[in-house]
Amino acid sequence: MAAAAGTWGFSLPAVERMRQRLLRGGLATDCLQEAMADIENDEETGVFVVGRGGYPNKDGIIQCDAAIMEGQPGRFGAVAALHGIGTPLAVARKVMEETPHSFLVGDGAVAFAKDQGFVVEDNSSLMSKKSTEAYQKYLETKKTLKKHDTLGLIALDIYGNITVGVSTSGSPFKYPGRVGDSPLPGCGLFADQEVGAAAATGEGDKIMCFCPCFHTVLLMRQGLSPVDACQTVVQDILQRAGKEKMFELGIIAMNMKGEVGAASSVAFPYCSWSQGKDAVEQVTQQP
Ligand code: ASP
Repeated sequence: MAAAAGTWGFSLPAVERMRQRLLRGGLATDCLQEAMADIENDEETGVFVVGRGGYPNKDGIIQCDAAIMEGQPGRFGAVAALHGIGTPLAVARKVMEETPHSFLVGDGAVAFAKDQGFVVEDNSSLMSKKSTEAYQKYLETKKTLKKHDTLGLIALDIYGNITVGVSTSGSPFKYPGRVGDSPLPGCGLFADQEVGAAAATGEGDKIMCFCPCFHTVLLMRQGLSPVDACQTVVQDILQRAGKEKMFELGIIAMNMKGEVGAASSVAFPYCSWSQGKDAVEQVTQQP
């Protein structure tokens, strides 16, 4: 059973790309990485806080966070506060596959990317017209943008491998070096070959305090469906944080049967497909 899912409406082309590749027998990790790179590298989708064309930090530098986790125990790689690279998830995958480490940050992550043959670009070539204008406006007004849109993708291949990946340029105009929930295992993503996988999006500074993706997968292990697991986690956080302090959070999850579910504290569009269905579906999950 192959299946694919992605956070937000702008994941649709990525989920469609995964659908086509998975049906041709592609491996989950390869399909996911290629689909992610298409969006990360497209400066038009930078406004969704991902990769090239994303919003810079308060010093004008685009710093990205990305991570990948396969369902096999211990298969995880991440980068954070990475600058100069248009495809951060590909670097995270190299961390997983080519190093004894799991997580590289900042200049060390950039040096590693260079060693691996990635072209490290000038920040100016990663900025788009839109992100440059938005940054100018920020400098004039000092008003930050409340925008949160991690691209989270999950792929299940026909051989029964599941992989989850996330990529984001993080909170617009953030403090340099700020890392969100996205690349943190258990917070922004989690996968377990016996159970399924989950990815989160939203206000990372808050999300990371609740480990929602680990919790979601744990609940699926205990027998809950993806949608019930996601809903239980969002309800649990809502109860603990309190209605007044609740923040933007969306979770998608997939089990090993290729069933997909989501829950959120805001209207949250997500895309999914599973083998047997003709096309990728976009659904908006209501809070
Ligand atoms: N969670 C990401 C962060 O806070 C952004 C997002 O998902 O929208 O960096």
